[in-house]
Amino acid sequence: MGESPSKKTDMISSLEEFNTIEQEVPLAPYTTWNIGGSAEYFWEPTKDELSDVLRYCEQNHIPVHFLGRGSNVLISSDGVDGLAICTRSSLQGIELQDDVIHAEAGVSMPVLANFAASYEIAGFEHLICIPGSIGAGIAINAGLAAHGRKEIGDSLIDVTVMNRSGTVFKERAEDLELGFRTSNIPDRDLFVLSARFDGSARGTEGEIASEMHTHLRKRKSKQPLSVPTAGSTFKNPSNGKSAGWLIDQAGLKGYQVGGAKVSEVHANWIENTGTATSDDVLDVINHVKRVVDDEFGIELEIEIRVLE
Ligand SMILES: Cc1cc2nc3c(=O)[nH]c(=O)nc-3n(C[C@H](O)[C@H](O)[C@H](O)COP(=O)(O)OP(=O)(O)OC[C@H]3O[C@@H](n4cnc5c(N)ncnc54)[C@H](O)[C@@H]3O)c2cc1C
Repeated sequence: MGESPSKKTDMISSLEEFNTIEQEVPLAPYTTWNIGGSAEYFWEPTKDELSDVLRYCEQNHIPVHFLGRGSNVLISSDGVDGLAICTRSSLQGIELQDDVIHAEAGVSMPVLANFAASYEIAGFEHLICIPGSIGAGIAINAGLAAHGRKEIGDSLIDVTVMNRSGTVFKERAEDLELGFRTSNIPDRDLFVLSARFDGSARGTEGEIASEMHTHLRKRKSKQPLSVPTAGSTFKNPSNGKSAGWLIDQAGLKGYQVGGAKVSEVHANWIENTGTATSDDVLDVINHVKRVVDDEFGIELEIEIRVLE
């Protein structure tokens, strides 16, 4: 059984009554692509009010969009209706108790990696180079595909989630159907509030630092880290070839529509050269999918989430 939401929402007549909810907030600065129009309503959630807000939105058919650090989303340049709930600056608690790391949804994966390293806990090194929040990271089971699959779900014990009715409950990692960049969290519209990770694996300070350094060094040479992107655009197909290799072999590096361009550094990344709109990015995505399908008979599936 979960906790019951309070009765407060029965007395609320509009979202404006929640003092900390803002209106018409441009979302581009909340994304790594720097693309996106305004959210009708925008909120950096507090734990105390979250269930009331979600329940109010559910009862009043107000669309809700979860946003972490915006490093895996393409937000419509026309903006989004409803409420964007963003944890970039909220839900930032992290602590260690009896070899278990407790982290709230807004904690970034590099912060989690550094926190684990500071206690000489091994197994979190790969998260140093994934710039998202742990809430989103668990929802999509973020991780590294190269050199043996490593994912945030590997050390996950359980998550505390809230549903759209404001009810809070725990789910064990094994019940989340964690797969390659998937879990069953998005399909069930659940908001990840916090997570517990197994922190019992030990390494030396030197070993952990060296592994994190190796991950960061490899990235610098192979990925366009100094321009606005959202990391990998497409999931790697299951036939062994990477999406980047297929796009490169199809001759699409440098392909550009408006301000959106297939990166010359890594073909699975789309760069915002400065003026890209969400439509520019979608046009590039659709062209890449068409050409790769024509050339190789492979249907690429997007890894990024589109919010419109
Ligand atoms: C330079 C760069 C490198 C990257 N490298 C990697 C990599 O190596 N591996 C990898 O997997 N990804 C990588 N990414 C993509 C991205 O960082 C991850 O997908 C990350 O998990 C997204 O986290 P976020 O907080 O930015 O999520 P957002 O982009 O804000 O949201 C992503 C999705 O999660 C949902 N969501 C957000 N918060 C919650 C919550 N609390 N509960 C439930 N759902 C939520 C959103 O609704 C959305 O559908 C990279 C991105 C960049 C820009």
